[in-house]
Amino acid sequence: MLDTAVRFGAGLLPPRTLCLTFDDGPGATLGLGRGPRTLDLAEYLAEQGIEATFFMCGKHIEQHPDVPRQVLDLGHTVGNHTYEHRLLPSLSDDEVRHEIRSTRELLARRGVSGAIPFRAPWGEWDDRIAAAVSADTEIVESHSAVYGWDIDAEDWECWDQQRSAQHCADAYLALAKELDSGVVLMHDSTADPGLPGVRMRAGNLSLDAVRLLVPMLRAEGFTFLPLSAVDPA
Ligand SMILES: [Zn+2]
Repeated sequence: MLDTAVRFGAGLLPPRTLCLTFDDGPGATLGLGRGPRTLDLAEYLAEQGIEATFFMCGKHIEQHPDVPRQVLDLGHTVGNHTYEHRLLPSLSDDEVRHEIRSTRELLARRGVSGAIPFRAPWGEWDDRIAAAVSADTEIVESHSAVYGWDIDAEDWECWDQQRSAQHCADAYLALAKELDSGVVLMHDSTADPGLPGVRMRAGNLSLDAVRLLVPMLRAEGFTFLPLSAVDPA
């Protein structure tokens, strides 16, 4: 049953613990170089014994329909990040519900069911949207909670500016050390519309950045928890 209060990790997670979350995928890229690599990222995290959460967009699930189930089978959680990645406060109640329902249906058809977590595009969520969603029995019964984030070093800007994976990893390490614990936001792809979105998606180095970041975090004493660690006991 969907709880429409947005959940964060700050003040809830034990010291030096992080929940890794990745938005806007799934994506896949052939060959070497920049570009989204959701499944490779999920495999690396599974090898590391880290349970992450991937908030996926319906329009990207349609392009990579097998990836949600593969990510789930690697032990991760798959969440709903709407279909088109539109700004929910700018939409009508019906449009908001359609953005959420269509992605939930795509995931269910691909074997991702049960109560799934939700994250709004750009974290934009308010009382009007919560009421619109609460009025939809299907959405309420098929989702668990709405999740925000605490630690965001803006990886998307690194990809937009063609910065290195090391630059991105260093920025996340510094912010994690400063905030000590929390839900980490990164992007395994980009669902933003228009040319900026295309540029950020093509410049993505999240796999390389995470491969650098995880050992650096462990060396600083951080451990990793699933996103459910921020749920009420
Ligand atoms: Zn997003």
